[in-house]
Amino acid sequence: MSDYDVIVIGSGAGGGTLARHLAPSGKKILILERGGWLPREPQNWSAGDVFVDNRYVSPDTWYDADGKPFQPQVHYYVGGATKLYGAALYRMRKEDFGELQHHGGISPAWPIPYEEMEPYYTKAEQLYEVHGARGEDPTEPPASAPYPFPAVSHEPRIQQLSDDFAAAGLHPFHAPCGVMLNEANMPYSNCVRCSTCDGFPCLVHAKSDAEVLGVRPALEHENVTLLTNATAVELSTNSAGTAVTEVVVERDGARETYSADIVVVSAGAANTAKLLLASAGDQHPNGLANGSDQVGRNYMFHDSQAVLALSKEPNNTVFQKTLGVNDYYFAGEAWEFPMGNIQMVGKSVADMYRGEQPLMTKLAPTFSLAEVADHAIDFWLSTEDLPLAENRVSLDSGGNVVLNYKATNDGARDRLFKQLRSLLGHLGMQEHHLIPRWAYLENKIPVAGVAHQAGTCRFGSDPATSALNTDCRAHEVDNLYVVDTSFFPSIAAVNPALTAMANAVRVGDHLLERLGANAG
Ligand SMILES: Cc1cc2nc3c(=O)[nH]c(=O)nc-3n(C[C@H](O)[C@H](O)[C@H](O)COP(=O)(O)OP(=O)(O)OC[C@H]3O[C@@H](n4cnc5c(N)ncnc54)[C@H](O)[C@@H]3O)c2cc1C
Ligand code: SF4
Repeated sequence: MSDYDVIVIGSGAGGGTLARHLAPSGKKILILERGGWLPREPQNWSAGDVFVDNRYVSPDTWYDADGKPFQPQVHYYVGGATKLYGAALYRMRKEDFGELQHHGGISPAWPIPYEEMEPYYTKAEQLYEVHGARGEDPTEPPASAPYPFPAVSHEPRIQQLSDDFAAAGLHPFHAPCGVMLNEANMPYSNCVRCSTCDGFPCLVHAKSDAEVLGVRPALEHENVTLLTNATAVELSTNSAGTAVTEVVVERDGARETYSADIVVVSAGAANTAKLLLASAGDQHPNGLANGSDQVGRNYMFHDSQAVLALSKEPNNTVFQKTLGVNDYYFAGEAWEFPMGNIQMVGKSVADMYRGEQPLMTKLAPTFSLAEVADHAIDFWLSTEDLPLAENRVSLDSGGNVVLNYKATNDGARDRLFKQLRSLLGHLGMQEHHLIPRWAYLENKIPVAGVAHQAGTCRFGSDPATSALNTDCRAHEVDNLYVVDTSFFPSIAAVNPALTAMANAVRVGDHLLERLGANAG
């Protein structure tokens, strides 16, 4: 007899969403989370504490291919990386579910079509209270329902930017945002529309993260238990290797074991691979669920660039992340290959620039940092990273994560950068200054840029080339599932969280059926 019906390991976008979806069923659910609750404190909204001192980056050490240690930019908290995320909640494009030829190679097809994910995207947009406007983005996929909340309005400088993009022949749109903002009734709005959102925790719990809208609502059901500071270190199986019988956990310095009929791993792409590889046994000598040798492989993030342009007029925007441009998302007249997505990041302030060499050397001789901050308009350019078998997570002899990564699609990335730079003169900006920023991604050290990690346990219909089946169940282990971004066979060029959330609901429906439960 198992202790629980379901154990969920990790409480981020995948695990937190799954727990919330399963909670009303009455099934006995245990959430194991390696981190604690992210403290609510004034430092949540301090650029110096968050961006310069990395207050909420959790201690961990990974190693690159040469064995050099580095600190990954990970956030081990209830809610996972979503505690710090920018809450840009995009659907992948319909075409992203098919095969796409990129400059750097092939982006493979997913084993399910967009149409199968669509109802779950709709459900995830509702769960995470996404604000947006359909019909503006020319690449947007078909949707069965409107956004549950109206788009977040542009502030004047961003409205001007939108108008200038449109005058240049592009199709700017209101970006989908997961913030609990009620512009029609601000006295009752949870979100106060502040400048410290993207990359910061939300002090007033108004960001649609997986703690606030996943784990907390799940815990309102008495059948759901959360253990914090509980790190799953190994999954043991029966002697045939066909089912997980125990989850071995380190908590407060002691080892404990828990059992469940169903075990769902959602520890983030690198840590999920780590856990499965560390769970090798007689029947799974290369790691659990790894007969295909796919576990840990095809690690992707995004070929992203945070860049800063200088507006001729001061930019007084507070909440900047309201605009997107997808005119270069696919191959087109501008170039024969896809380039990616342009969106805004949170408004930069002078405090964030400390120590940023490209910015200091290129601008500091002419402009003071305060002038730069007054005029900065901050973009996030996101190009698809392509899955390569040799880009992988493996373990060293001490069981530590080794991340072997080389960039895959730099030609497209550079082209997107040039495309935006060529437009600056039409956008009311200084023409020659488009300066790479660190933001929360150190441009020079791509292996540390793990914010959008995905792909280490790809799902598919062929057990020879995938670790999971199309229900995200391990091909080789009957009661083992994975619902974090590990299952992505390709990562598209839009932010990954909504897809992880939608898929968690999809897998959740499958689990409810398997457990003979109803949604409650
Ligand atoms: C600064 C920042 C900004 C971002 N902005 C955006 C954005 O605007 N839009 C977007 O779509 N995405 C964004 N992302 C990415 C997004 O947050 C992730 O894609 C998403 O959270 C991934 O979900 P996940 O479930 O795979 O992993 P996570 O959300 O990282 O959850 C994994 C959880 O597992 C826990 N864990 C790890 N190992 C163990 C273990 N052994 N035992 C128990 N628990 C464990 C971790 O502590 C964590 O809570 C951003 C990320 C960052 C860091
Ligand atoms: S903008 Fe809104 S959701 Fe974001 S941190 Fe500020 S109050 Fe929170």
